[in-house]
Amino acid sequence: MSVPANHLNPPAGLDVARVRADFPILQRTVHGKPLVYLDTAASAQRPEAVIKATDDFYRRLNANIHRGVHTLSQEATDAYEGARDKMAAFLNAPSRDELVFTRGTTEAINLVAQAWLRPRLNPGDEIIVSQMEHHANIVPWQMLCESTGAVLKPIPINDAGELDLDAYHAMLNDRVKLVGMVHVSNALGTVNPIAELARAAREKGIPLLVDGAQSLPHQAVDVQALGCTFFCFSGHKMYGPTGIGGLWAPMEVLAAMEPYQGGGEMIKKVTFERTEYNPPPGKFEAGTPNIAGAVGLGAAVDYLLDLGMDQVAAYEAWLLQAATARLEAVEGLQVVGTAAHKAGVISFTFDDIHPHDIGTIIDHHGVAIRTGHHCAMPAIARFGLPATARASLGIYNTLEEFDVLAGALEQVRDMFR
Ligand code: PLP
Repeated sequence: MSVPANHLNPPAGLDVARVRADFPILQRTVHGKPLVYLDTAASAQRPEAVIKATDDFYRRLNANIHRGVHTLSQEATDAYEGARDKMAAFLNAPSRDELVFTRGTTEAINLVAQAWLRPRLNPGDEIIVSQMEHHANIVPWQMLCESTGAVLKPIPINDAGELDLDAYHAMLNDRVKLVGMVHVSNALGTVNPIAELARAAREKGIPLLVDGAQSLPHQAVDVQALGCTFFCFSGHKMYGPTGIGGLWAPMEVLAAMEPYQGGGEMIKKVTFERTEYNPPPGKFEAGTPNIAGAVGLGAAVDYLLDLGMDQVAAYEAWLLQAATARLEAVEGLQVVGTAAHKAGVISFTFDDIHPHDIGTIIDHHGVAIRTGHHCAMPAIARFGLPATARASLGIYNTLEEFDVLAGALEQVRDMFR
């Protein structure tokens, strides 16, 4: 990612003042101070367009989908399936039918673990994941290993928080049945070279699952160019609603997968003797889905496309670099995770002040950051730490907001001296 040398000049292309005006929550104050929202990696804020799309759905279209012959049901079905079209196109999926809606990344990974990997796993088989994974890309595999006798192995990371590529290549052996890899680490900000990792895995016939929860909000993603077998994501990280996300996988893989949950929607024909399932993606969407959530997700996709993902990536790359320089100038602040290729996240320690104290005190300045292990305990433990403070950014953040954060941190230090 190329970054302009001048910290003070953001690249043209993204009108951040206009973007900020699209997010109603940014108008509010916290403890009497303007909200400085630096917790987008946990959950992004929603633009008016997403709020309006879900609101409109409930006001004008609300009905259950797929089964109804009445007008509302048909319109609701069109809205839900239209969101699938948008999301599939956003990922450059070869077919809309390869996009399965789930509750989010966590459910998408569990779906792959249970419906695809479980029947293919034998004692002694291996699943490899990086040391920087979110718990969502560790625990489902661990649960699977416990019940099958397979083994979960971590790929080490270096002091900068980058994947040890030599170790990765050495670990790709015949026993490995799946690689699980985060695209952008929520704890360290590291961007992993997925296309390169997927190519090496593919050469050995090993599928690679991408945890894309943190990449979709920051950069254009093309699942065909990545060459992965599974791509998982969450709507709420990309300015859409909570409770909606999805899994992309090629049709031949989805077609070979067992159903995940049984119930309505996923069947073609049921008798007490046997059930015939719908083809993907319906086969994996048992029960009434989050219809309004999908519609809101479609609106989030439209919103991001309107901004332009290249503009988003360029602005955020500039802001990340400038904000990192700004924070590093605060005496006693140490950035954790200094990979050459990063997105969206600045994790840090500050003297020996506990991150929870930092977060609680600066909340009184209106600044929202996250503190703790960020659901990536092994990644944080790798640096000999129990917790960090984490500022994460999105399309609406400005360098001035990092000035507010830096100023608040100076005051925290004064309190502890
Ligand atoms: N993976 C990463 C990298 C994340 O940052 C998160 C959420 O923080 C998840 C997975 C889990 O996402 P969700 O809780 O939306 O399922």
